[in-house]
Amino acid sequence: MKIRIDEIPEDGLHLSFSGDEDFLSDAVKSISMSGDVKIDPHLRGDIHISHSGEETTFVGTLTGLMHLHCSRCLGEFSLQKELILDLKLRSGGLAEEFRQDADEQSTDVLYVEEQEFDPGEIILQEFLLEIPMKPLCREDCPGLCPRCGALKGSTECRCADESSGDPRWEALARLKRKTGQ
Ligand SMILES: [Zn+2]
Ligand SMILES: [Zn+2]
Repeated sequence: MKIRIDEIPEDGLHLSFSGDEDFLSDAVKSISMSGDVKIDPHLRGDIHISHSGEETTFVGTLTGLMHLHCSRCLGEFSLQKELILDLKLRSGGLAEEFRQDADEQSTDVLYVEEQEFDPGEIILQEFLLEIPMKPLCREDCPGLCPRCGALKGSTECRCADESSGDPRWEALARLKRKTGQ
């Protein structure tokens, strides 16, 4: 979906998402993402797009689901993210698209060369910025055991039983041997 800047009505455009529309699907195809990241194209929320002078303003809230891989256990997990949009597009003058912080406010400014834009691409890029540097499936994810490769502390990993050093584990290992577990 493309929106022409000069076709934005005076009182703005309101886009509302119930989660049924796959609004981002085109953008997901056109923007390259690392293979570990999937953004669900179905979003919920509202945005208001308005235009004045050289500036197009995006304001609103969106909630979407991203599918990531845990940096510790490598398992896939889903993360729900709420995005608060407060973004300006500025057209004209600059050949390259880049973002920077506007003035001293938290409003992001994106420079666009063309007179039309795909709001899905803009929203998707905002979502991509929300991806944590080290995604974790849960705060206390123990990660994988360097010895057997199973999740540390899981039933598949029994390496802790044999680990030397920690007397508590030793006691437990002895107990397990006795009871035949
Ligand atoms: Zn994990
Ligand atoms: Zn192990």
